[in-house]
Amino acid sequence: MDFAAASITGLAPDGGLYVPEELPRYSQSVLTSLAGMSYHDIAFETILPFVRDTMSARVLHDLIESAYTFAAPLVPVADRLVLELFHGPTAAFKDFGARFMARAFSYFRRGEDTVLHVLTATSGDTGGAVAAGFYGVEGIDVTILYPKGRVTPLQEHQIAGLGGNISALAVEGSFDDCQTLVKAAFADEALKKTTVLSSANSINIARLIPQIVYYTAAAGKIAAGTIDPDGKATPRIKAPTARTRNVKTPILCVPSGNFGDLTAGLYAQAMGAPIHSFIAATNINKTVPDYLVSGTYQPRASQTTISNAMDVGAPSNFERMIAHFSWEALKERIQGASISDDAAKRTIKEVHDEAGYFLDPHTAVGWAAVDQVLTNATVLATAHPAKFSETVAPLTGPIPVPESLTSALERNIQSKTIKNDLSALRSSIR
Ligand SMILES: *Cc1c(COP(=O)(O)O)cnc(C)c1O
Repeated sequence: MDFAAASITGLAPDGGLYVPEELPRYSQSVLTSLAGMSYHDIAFETILPFVRDTMSARVLHDLIESAYTFAAPLVPVADRLVLELFHGPTAAFKDFGARFMARAFSYFRRGEDTVLHVLTATSGDTGGAVAAGFYGVEGIDVTILYPKGRVTPLQEHQIAGLGGNISALAVEGSFDDCQTLVKAAFADEALKKTTVLSSANSINIARLIPQIVYYTAAAGKIAAGTIDPDGKATPRIKAPTARTRNVKTPILCVPSGNFGDLTAGLYAQAMGAPIHSFIAATNINKTVPDYLVSGTYQPRASQTTISNAMDVGAPSNFERMIAHFSWEALKERIQGASISDDAAKRTIKEVHDEAGYFLDPHTAVGWAAVDQVLTNATVLATAHPAKFSETVAPLTGPIPVPESLTSALERNIQSKTIKNDLSALRSSIR
């Protein structure tokens, strides 16, 4: 099966996730020149081996240029580096996957006369990134299901404010209900007759592959001892300590929920990117940190926290991690850490007091995990703090809001409330 089929299908017929048969390796010449390469060039070298059968080098090149119009700066904050992944249109790292996926889908569907219908369930962040990624993309309609009243106002504006080819359904139920509805829709014979369905959730391989790129790009810069010039342009920061500067291959700390992000990191490392190891930082939903210690995987119901995009008790990408790595191999590569809401809040306050830097609740879990593990590591910042100002601002005072978020709030919400049942969903899909 090629990349086009795997990404458009989303889930394998047996309900499993697609994984690459084998992981490519970066060439030695790429590995030695990473620090001097542009993000676009690293993206090209990373993604090409996965998509070679399905698009030309020229097409991939154009796709990358159009998807990545924003930076991923490495910023020194207090005693460590932060990899800011929130400069995309919805101010969260999910933009990296969603923007590439939308453009790839559109390319794979070129020349078809039927519209592809993308159906996705969200607890908040994925929906906004998917809506923004697919908005105005030709040949594709998108329906996003979200739990009514359980996303933040900003998230609802991002999901339901665009209109056009993006429809938003507020489901009277929980996120799990939304996910169950999407699964039921995929299995529904009546819908199959009228609609070409695809999914765009975080398990789609077309979202995972482009996330490898920022790991490789950041690790290359850190290993070479250079710091992204975009980072230096950002005011507010103390100089990095000697500890930060002397690190050769970095430890990367990844705030994790469904573990798509960390899986992409493991892929980058396996492809040869100069990464020492990872910290898997979770909130109290610590299924994977527990597994790393015990070797036994025990999925459980998720618990609600202030880092709600990581409230996952049964991470779907776990299946991918163990498809490539044994427990022993994972233990060598990853250390787990679980952080309470209280500790995350304390961290947000302390880092703001001491360094003048705003952490969002997810990134705060990552920061606190580094302290808990007692090492020096680079923290992946997965969302802009202004996305979660209800939690952050009371601890820090007002947060500067990026333009993408203020303009999202000005849009009108155009969503339809539906009951939690399949016939309601069926009749809402055009
Ligand atoms: C989705 C999300 C995460 C978790 O990423 P996974 O790939 O699911 O582990 C962390 N932080 C933020 C802000 C997110 O939106």
